[in-house]
Amino acid sequence: MRHHCGVAQITFHGSLLFFRPRGSAGPASVAFERDPSIKDAIESLGVPHPEVDLVLSGSRSLALEARLEAVDRLDVFGLDRPEDLAGLPGLIPPPPDPPRFVADGHLGRLARYLRILGFDCWYERDAEDDRLAHVAAEENRILLTRDRGLLKRSIVRLGYLPRTDDAAGQFGEVSARYSLPSRARPFSRCVRCNGLLRPVERSAVLERLADQPRTLRYFDSFSECSNCGSIYWPGSHYERMSRFLKTYAGLDAP
Ligand SMILES: [Zn+2]
Repeated sequence: MRHHCGVAQITFHGSLLFFRPRGSAGPASVAFERDPSIKDAIESLGVPHPEVDLVLSGSRSLALEARLEAVDRLDVFGLDRPEDLAGLPGLIPPPPDPPRFVADGHLGRLARYLRILGFDCWYERDAEDDRLAHVAAEENRILLTRDRGLLKRSIVRLGYLPRTDDAAGQFGEVSARYSLPSRARPFSRCVRCNGLLRPVERSAVLERLADQPRTLRYFDSFSECSNCGSIYWPGSHYERMSRFLKTYAGLDAP
């Protein structure tokens, strides 16, 4: 087996510059002794592979498993590649439709927003990294995390690192990246457990809401989580969330 050693130049573009030190828009040098994969070389510069959609050597596009060569000058793009490269096949697999997610333990509010929009979002506050990566891989879910190391794991195929640490901003990013507004079914899913909601008769919830006479007086339509039994109604929470969805996802709730 041949072993190369040398230096390759890798230039990151667009949304991937987020992962590079500020002000380092030019090519980054990777010195190596063995033949690293392009995945490893790119990740050694801080960019997790699920964010990489196109690797170009001149006009030739390369797979992440390809080996880095000493002569390589690579250009690396995320999903936001320029228009003249639109025709080249991407490395990021198509996400499930509608998209399904896994949110790491720090993204509880984002998970909540996604569920309110009706998207299936796996979330356990204390889940370990191993578990998150496995759930994402086995259930073909998009892993949402601000932890680069977690996104770099090889079994993770679909993933996104929200650029901001503000939950509303994260929601806007995810919403745009996965075209959520057109696929949303707001208020169809339980924010507590991710179960699907189904409509229930007022008479069926009378007893359980006996301690909330105002709710029973003012609302007629109720739904119930098919998994945990939580009861929902279009109260003030609903109106506040409707405004939120309108602002951050451009979406009119029903
Ligand atoms: Zn539930």
